[in-house]
Amino acid sequence: TSLFNHLETMPGDPIFGLMSLYAKDPAEKKASLTIGVYRDEEGKPWVLPTVKKVEKMIAEDVATNHEYLPMEGLHPFVESARDLLFGNPDAALTSRIGSLQTISGTGAVHLGARFLNDSLKPSTIWVSDPTWGNHHAIFDIAAPDVQQKMYPYYDAATCSLNFAGMMDTLEKQAQPGDLILLHACAHNPTGIDPTKDQWKQIADLCERKHLFPFFDSAYQGFASGDVDEDAWAVRHFVSRGTLELVVAQSFSKNFGLYGQRVGAFHIVAASEDARDKALSHLIYLQRAEISNPPVYGARIVAFILQNAELKREWEQDLLIMSGRIKTMRAALYGELVALSTPGSWEHIINQNGMFSYTGLSEKQVLSLRKEHIYLLTSGRASISGLNRDNVKMVAQAIDKVVR
Ligand code: PLP
Repeated sequence: TSLFNHLETMPGDPIFGLMSLYAKDPAEKKASLTIGVYRDEEGKPWVLPTVKKVEKMIAEDVATNHEYLPMEGLHPFVESARDLLFGNPDAALTSRIGSLQTISGTGAVHLGARFLNDSLKPSTIWVSDPTWGNHHAIFDIAAPDVQQKMYPYYDAATCSLNFAGMMDTLEKQAQPGDLILLHACAHNPTGIDPTKDQWKQIADLCERKHLFPFFDSAYQGFASGDVDEDAWAVRHFVSRGTLELVVAQSFSKNFGLYGQRVGAFHIVAASEDARDKALSHLIYLQRAEISNPPVYGARIVAFILQNAELKREWEQDLLIMSGRIKTMRAALYGELVALSTPGSWEHIINQNGMFSYTGLSEKQVLSLRKEHIYLLTSGRASISGLNRDNVKMVAQAIDKVVR
């Protein structure tokens, strides 16, 4: 007998479960709109041309080695990550920003959750309903003292933002010192972001009610194709000069470096002294958790961001990815309109980033599986799984299941 017999088996991750169902489906024509990874027109993973080029340069550089990085990460990477996010901050702001390299966006959220749990001891974190499923799990394990509460976000009737509901709930129920988790852009899973005017109102509310913003930035440049546009909300909050905040930053999607685990965590403090103290705690946590972050992907990102020419090339790669996704949104919408599929489908083109919350019900999603089309039971579809070859088939199947 085992000491572990008392354990209940944990449920598997629904996304990875669906991917294996898809892999086992013997149908010749099938479509996977499941995981949030970019796929090209052939449905294949895409190594960004700029990344490929830099990999060759790194491979030929005799000076590179595999030594440990400092605990806070590769300095040129950490600085370029900060500058990309905050838009080349001036010296005064830079002195208030503490940054360190993390195990991608997941590791950054984890480190931030644990750090805030211990340092600010907040009673509650407000997360959007719905949010990225892993946010719940990460805060469960890394911030066990913090209660998770949800603010309304998605309006099922219109497949758009329930801004009034969000603001009303936070206004009435959030308490000073509570954390609020905000997706910097390309909200996962809904693909719905606040407008700039709405972001200003959210920042007003954070100031007025003394809420502590925790931004998750997993799609900078990937959503609109423009790195500055996608960082607007974070920069707006910072520009007020009144709010301290943190940001978890991922380079998985915008550099296509998923498996290399490249990310950063940033804290914007009110003073340089507070920044230094916070950073010392973050480095202490980092030492205990991972000692030091992985070097290869960070080297690639730093190489690109520190060279104006390569950075411009990378921005072209970003436009290819965001452009193809927008084209596929329009193509799916066009096919559904051409089929006169019952319902309104405009939200598919209005939503942004990797995902669309299609509004399809769980029953309809399960029926779609019989048509060899795979998406989450919440109705979330990963748009990059669409291409010219399968978009018609997907639209026809949707048309069939909603009638
Ligand atoms: N945050 C959000 C909202 C995401 O969608 C993702 C990835 O899907 C992440 C964070 C973290 O991804 P990674 O750990 O691969 O950087």
